[in-house]
Amino acid sequence: MKAAVVRAFGEPLVIEDRPDPEPGPGQVRVRVEASGLCHTDIHATHGDWPLKPTLPFVPGHEGVGLVEKLGDGVTHLSVGQRVAVPWLGWACGRCEHCLSGWETLCEQQINTGYGCDGGHAEKMLAWADFAQPVPNGVDAVDAAPLACAGVTTYKAVKVAGVRPSQLVAISGIGGLGHLAVQYAKIAGATVAAIDVTDEKLELATELGADLVIDARKDDVGQVLKQHGGAHAAIALAVDEAAFTAINSGLRRGGKLVMVALPAHGTIQVPIFDTVLNGTSVIGSIVGTRQDLAEVLQLHAADRTKVICETRSLAAVNESIDELLRGEVRARIVFDLGTGR
Ligand code: NAD
Ligand code: ZN
Ligand code: ZN
Repeated sequence: MKAAVVRAFGEPLVIEDRPDPEPGPGQVRVRVEASGLCHTDIHATHGDWPLKPTLPFVPGHEGVGLVEKLGDGVTHLSVGQRVAVPWLGWACGRCEHCLSGWETLCEQQINTGYGCDGGHAEKMLAWADFAQPVPNGVDAVDAAPLACAGVTTYKAVKVAGVRPSQLVAISGIGGLGHLAVQYAKIAGATVAAIDVTDEKLELATELGADLVIDARKDDVGQVLKQHGGAHAAIALAVDEAAFTAINSGLRRGGKLVMVALPAHGTIQVPIFDTVLNGTSVIGSIVGTRQDLAEVLQLHAADRTKVICETRSLAAVNESIDELLRGEVRARIVFDLGTGR
C-alpha cells in the first residue's frame, strides 16, 4: 500500500510502498477512500509545536474508508462498513477527563497522524472504539473534512455557548472556518466572518455569514464594536495578530475561543480590559466521539455543506503549498479511490 510519509521536519513528504498494517486487538484496518488535508498536518510535517511527532510518520486525521479487517475482540464494526478516523485515535476511558465527557483532554490519548500513522495512505489502522461509523448517505469525500474541521468547529461553537441572537465573530474562513460559519448559523447566531482574501469572504457570505470583515483593510476590533461587540470570537486563522484583533472586538462578558495553533503562538491579553469587561479566553481542542456523531448526523440531514476539492495522494506536497499560499477554496481532500 502507498503512504505519504514525513521523514524529516520541513522536508517534502515521500510516497512509499509499505506492507498492509495488521490490526492488533481492538483495532481495525481501514481501506482509505478519502483523507482531508488539515492545516494541522502542515504544523505536524514542519514540527511546529512543542510536542513533536516521532519520525517517520504518516500524517492525516480526516481519513474515511471502509473497514477491511477486524482485529481480535472487535464485534461492533463489520467488514465493509464506512468509518471516519479522527484526531482522537484513542483515549483511556478511565481518567477524570474521559469519565466526565472530556475524552479530548485525556492525558494518555493517541492522536491519529501524529502519535500513530494517519490517513494519508491507502490503508490505515484505527482503534475500533474511536472509529466513527459514517451514516448512510454521507459520502467519503464529504465525511473527511467533517472528521476534524467539522467536529472541531462544532465543538468550538458549543464551548462558546452560542445562543440565538448573539453576534459570533469567526476569524479564518478556511477548512475549519467554512464549517464554523454554518454551525454558528445553525445555533442561531448572527455571524461576522473575517479573512484576508476576497474569495474567502465571498464564500463566507454564500454560506450564510451576515457580515464580512476584510482584515487586510478594516480594523476588525472596531468593526465588531460598531456592531455592539461579539459575544464570542472563534480564532481559526493561523496568525497571532488575528487573535488579538478579535479579542479586542468582544463585548462585555464575551468569550475568545482559541482553536488555531500558530507555531510558538502567544498573545498579550490586557489585564485591565479583561477584568473590567469580564471577558474570557478559552482553548478548544477537536471534539468527542459524540460531537462527531452529531456533526455527521447534521450533514446527513442536509444541514451543512462541505466545500472541498479533490487531489491524488501523489499531489500531497503541491497541495500543502497551495494551502500555505491561501489558494484552496476551503479544504483539499485526497481521493484514494472513491470514483467521484
Ligand atoms: P486553513 O489554512 O484552511 O485556514 C486558515 C484561514 O485563515 C485561511 O482562510 C486564511 O486565509 C485565513 N487567514 C490568514 N490570516 C488571517 C488573518 N490575519 N485574519 C483572518 N484570517 C486569516 O487552516 P485550517 O485547516 O482551517 O486550520 C486552522 C488552524 O486550526 C490551524 O492552525 C490548525 O492547526 C488548527 N486546528 C486546530 C484544531 C483544534 O482542535 N484546536 C483542530 C484542527 C485544526
Ligand atoms: Zn485537523
Ligand atoms: Zn483518559
